Amino acid sequence: MFYQAKSTCLYCDHKFTTTKVRMSKTKVLKRDSDFCIHYDGPNPLFYDITICPECGFAFYNSYRKLSDHQRKKLKEAYISKINVMNMVGERTIEEAIHTFKLALLTASIVNERKFITANLSLKLAWLYRMIEDEAEELRFLQNALDDYIYMMAYEDIEQEEVDEDRLIYLIADLNLRLGHYVDARRLFSQLITGKQVSPRYKSLAIDRWQDYKEELEDGD
Ligand SMILES: [Zn+2]
Repeated sequence: MFYQAKSTCLYCDHKFTTTKVRMSKTKVLKRDSDFCIHYDGPNPLFYDITICPECGFAFYNSYRKLSDHQRKKLKEAYISKINVMNMVGERTIEEAIHTFKLALLTASIVNERKFITANLSLKLAWLYRMIEDEAEELRFLQNALDDYIYMMAYEDIEQEEVDEDRLIYLIADLNLRLGHYVDARRLFSQLITGKQVSPRYKSLAIDRWQDYKEELEDGD
C-alpha cells in the first residue's frame, strides 16, 4: 500500500525519503460534496505534507521556491523554535492533522498564495470531519472559504490552473455547509443558469441544491 518517495527539503536542501500511499491500491468508500474522499484503508491525504527530518520544515508540493527574505523569516519564526519530529513513516490521523497545522504555519510565515492556504485549510477540515470534530471542521471550512473568496478576487486563477467552475461550485458548497444560505443559493443559481458553465459542474450544482432542498423538507 505504501512506497518511499524521494524528497528534497525546500528550506535546507536535505535529501530524504518519505512515505506515500500508492494511489492505484486505494479503495474509495465515498466522496463528499466538497470533494473529500473517504478510503477503505490508508488515506493518501495523511501524507500530503512533507516534513523534513533534518530541519522540521513542513511543506506542500506546490510551495514556491523560497527567497532569502522568506528563509530569514522562517528561521526566526519557525526553524529555530520547533522540535523536529520524524514524520517520514506511516502517520496516524492525529499526526496528519499536526502536519497540516505546521504547513499552515509555514505558509503564513512565507506569505504563500491564498490558493495554497485555502487548500490546506480545506484538507484539515476533512481530517477533522473524519474524527467527527465538527467545531474544528467548521472552523477550518470557514478559513478555506475566506481564502478561496480572497483568491477569486485578488489572485491569478489561470496561473494556478484552477477550473473556475469547480472553484465556484466549491465556494457554493462550503457556504451551504457553513449555513450561509443566501450566498450558496446565489452561487448555485449562477452555475445552474450560466451559459458558459461546464455540464459537469452544472449537473453537480443541480444535484447538490436538490439534495439540500430535500434535506430541508425532511427536517420540517
Ligand atoms: Zn530541511
